[in-house]
Amino acid sequence: MAVPNVHPACHLDDAIRRDTGEHADVAGGWHDAGDVRKWMDATMLVGIGILQVARNLEAAWDLAGPGLQPLLEEVKWGSRYFLKMQDRNGRVWADTGGGVNGDNSDNHWTDNQTGNADDRHVNVNRLGQGVFMLPESLVAQVYREHDPAYGRECMDAARRCFQAEGPDHKTLDLGWWTLAALEMDRADPGDSFKSAAATFARQLLDLQNTEFVGAQKVIRGFWRTAPDNSTPYKNWFVATPQALLEMLLAYPRHPDAPRWRDAVRLYLDEYVVPLCSRSVYRIMPVGVFLSSDNDSLFRPIGGTMWYRFFGTVRGGDWTTGLNSHLMGHAVLLARASQAFRERNYRGLACRQLEWVVGANPFGASMMTGVGYRNPYPFSVFAGLISGGILNGIGGNSQDQPVLSFDCGSDYRTTEYWSPHSCYYEWAISLLEQRL
Ligand SMILES: [Zn+2]
Repeated sequence: MAVPNVHPACHLDDAIRRDTGEHADVAGGWHDAGDVRKWMDATMLVGIGILQVARNLEAAWDLAGPGLQPLLEEVKWGSRYFLKMQDRNGRVWADTGGGVNGDNSDNHWTDNQTGNADDRHVNVNRLGQGVFMLPESLVAQVYREHDPAYGRECMDAARRCFQAEGPDHKTLDLGWWTLAALEMDRADPGDSFKSAAATFARQLLDLQNTEFVGAQKVIRGFWRTAPDNSTPYKNWFVATPQALLEMLLAYPRHPDAPRWRDAVRLYLDEYVVPLCSRSVYRIMPVGVFLSSDNDSLFRPIGGTMWYRFFGTVRGGDWTTGLNSHLMGHAVLLARASQAFRERNYRGLACRQLEWVVGANPFGASMMTGVGYRNPYPFSVFAGLISGGILNGIGGNSQDQPVLSFDCGSDYRTTEYWSPHSCYYEWAISLLEQRL
């Protein structure tokens, strides 16, 4: 699809299957970032963000506008590509144009003519099954009135994905599968998806550190990374506690509901809130560590537990910015403020968003078109995108904040990545919701 004043219709020749060399029609969808590659997990988050706005605010999302129609059309555009990326066996492919053998060779414009040397590749490796089922089952709900046939088509795709294979039982994947199964139950009520969601949620409960670890008694309630990996879970995708909170709100009379509530409250009250209190901006640090080294600054909590505001890095380098990590927590906090009637959670949700638009050590807004002192984005193909959000402030080995003002050279802090838009839209739509 052409984007007026940005570029004409592009990549109509996507793409060559990496495994067989055959052409598969996977044109459409959204570019993910400051490049023109189309990762499924990241761009499906774009769809999730729009769908959350549609669900939480409905026609009031734009008081001067024409109602839900622009959102529905945009979601359908993205979802049409997602459906093309599902194999006949129900599994979902990873990306288009992601490059071959880990390189960046597919990151270019093409001539839109199939079958010549500039055609890009589709990576048919599995990725993002749980993330796929979530937007498709949300589409099924949002389209129930507007276009029921299309909603059923998307739900059928989610169901085929669900039947193709299960989660890998690590914390991240279980979070997505729990959320997805819950939304599939909302789209197609019955016992099977609901009981699957409860099973995944129980496995998530088992992965939470409810006792103090690391010879300290200050912080607990965070998740292990996997059943066989006790590394504290850190991921942009805050789907784990989010999934349990949504379970609590969807099934308040389920026998496990008290455990879901306790797990979310423990994570918020003994992990998120005390860690945020260590920042004068009240932002959520990247997380806790159960080991440290002498090359980097690890801030002590007690015993053998440390924390950092930013991720770990060696030498003079710095990490990728934390905007999705912060705004993912804003989503969780905003939803928790609704569920538990806690104004403190709402305030903390706002602090995470305010950091993104200027309440940070640089006084810099990281959203194009909003605020002041915006670093120039890394966006070599599309230029400035109004509303686009940069990766954000990263940290160096001494855990000091870094934000590049070098006019577009630093992808780690100044590239547009699409997950940020998802979490911003999701959080704002919750904070603006009239209950
Ligand atoms: Zn394109």
